[in-house]
Amino acid sequence: MRDYRELTAFLEKKQIPYQLSLSLREYTTFRLGGSADVFATPRHADELAALQQYLKTADIPVFLLGGGSNLLIADSGFRGLVVHPAFGEEPEVLHRSSDRLSVRIPASARAPLTGKKISALGFAGLEFLTTIPGQFGGSVIQNAGCYGHELKDTITAVEVVTQGEVRTFANNECDFRYRDSLFKRDGALWVASANLELAAGDGAAISARIEDYKNRRIASQPKNRRSAGSIFKNPTAAVSDKKAWQLIDAAGLRGVHEGDAEISAEHCNFIVNNGKARAVDVYKLMLVIEQRVLETSGVSLEREVVLVGDFTQGG
Ligand SMILES: Cc1cc2nc3c(=O)[nH]c(=O)nc-3n(C[C@H](O)[C@H](O)[C@H](O)COP(=O)(O)OP(=O)(O)OC[C@H]3O[C@@H](n4cnc5c(N)ncnc54)[C@H](O)[C@@H]3O)c2cc1C
Repeated sequence: MRDYRELTAFLEKKQIPYQLSLSLREYTTFRLGGSADVFATPRHADELAALQQYLKTADIPVFLLGGGSNLLIADSGFRGLVVHPAFGEEPEVLHRSSDRLSVRIPASARAPLTGKKISALGFAGLEFLTTIPGQFGGSVIQNAGCYGHELKDTITAVEVVTQGEVRTFANNECDFRYRDSLFKRDGALWVASANLELAAGDGAAISARIEDYKNRRIASQPKNRRSAGSIFKNPTAAVSDKKAWQLIDAAGLRGVHEGDAEISAEHCNFIVNNGKARAVDVYKLMLVIEQRVLETSGVSLEREVVLVGDFTQGG
């Protein structure tokens, strides 16, 4: 095992909370994966910046973990430092008038709860977020979206920690795309918070939209099963006019099992953990999907889920 004494001495000096050999399972919606050698929970952007500054000269693999709802962690875990923002939950109101709300949301705020809080204030635009799990920072880098809405539509600026310094990116500098952004492509950009601007809406209409989105989820997604949401992105129109689940379905893979992991019979772009699955089981199903969809439709599916740790031995 790597020698982490210098790192832990640094964390103690800066009073950044940390734990050693911590199981990451409970930090993922799949409830899968091994442990992190070191798990640190900085409490504000300055601590995150100090940690990044330290890591510039330390030869330690590092991974930034949000709500763990869009990733698969290897059964062997992560040999290095996992950083998990713990900046709190509360939105900071920057400006509020009868028709507009400007608000800063910390990266560690739970995305669905944030959607509920803003909606309850009577401002529209985050109703869809009430149905997407994860931390708010994760939803920014992923430009999370559903039902025709994306987070980029309300973001005005994103505060990022990079190279040990705090920088602000305006919306048009973030290169937001479908389930993608500059921050997703460049792992050195850690989102600390984002500013949003929302217009006032009708309270009853906001509540009705939240209820509608919730019901649509219940109707279309696996119930009472652990997952990481959609495993693959939908192909662009230039590549295929079919959605990822349709290609997987057409390849005959609905309901296929590997151990206790299953290509969901309810929504076949989801892989579910039926209780005792291992990360390697999920990984093998991902490879089966990629190969069979390529053979049957000629489409190379692009992964939405992020793999963390070493999968070269299978998982
Ligand atoms: C049941 C279910 C339904 C879902 N439905 C949807 C949906 O409709 N639409 C949708 O878009 N997504 C959906 N998802 C996927 C997922 O919830 C979102 O992508 C979510 O925004 C990921 O956030 P997270 O904090 O969980 O990220 P994590 O899974 O923790 O991390 C994912 C990636 O983001 C990076 N990351 C996390 N936080 C930060 C940060 N602060 N700064 C920089 N990088 C960071 C990580 O390093 C990693 O590379 C669904 C997931 C589940 C389980």
